[in-house]
Amino acid sequence: MKTERGNWRPIRRDELRDELVHDAYKAGAKLPSPTRCPDCGAVYRDGRWTWGTAPAGAHETVCPACHRIRDRYPAGYVRIEGPFWRAHRTDIEHLVRNREARERAEHPLERIMGVEEDGDTLLVATTDNHLARDIGEALHAAYKGELEYHYNREENLLRVRWRR
Ligand SMILES: [Zn+2]
Repeated sequence: MKTERGNWRPIRRDELRDELVHDAYKAGAKLPSPTRCPDCGAVYRDGRWTWGTAPAGAHETVCPACHRIRDRYPAGYVRIEGPFWRAHRTDIEHLVRNREARERAEHPLERIMGVEEDGDTLLVATTDNHLARDIGEALHAAYKGELEYHYNREENLLRVRWRR
């Protein structure tokens, strides 16, 4: 994993909407339209990545999500802590995967990069910080518990902690 820079600070849920900017991996790239990602097949068209088809011979470049996956550099994390998730592991994992499937169907750049178990913690890494936020909100909506966000503006990285 790449080393992180910048400062982490707690952030309120209502501040998040204004803070979360679109992925730095997306910024500045003026790609020809359409451009196709050779890894996942997503197509960049009119300024955004979508699921679609590109004509044969279209320009190819790796999309920001696949770029992060190649670099093993997540944009968001959800730390699931406390005794609850172990006792309800199947339901929790189902909820997390469902949420991803729903977001990814609309937004190709929102994907889970990996799910890792670390002691009493389940750590979910995402390619986009909006997905990390949405998974945290879905857990909280379904099971209550404590939900916290820490944001690193310099790196546009979001850490979500959900505990129950
Ligand atoms: Zn891709």
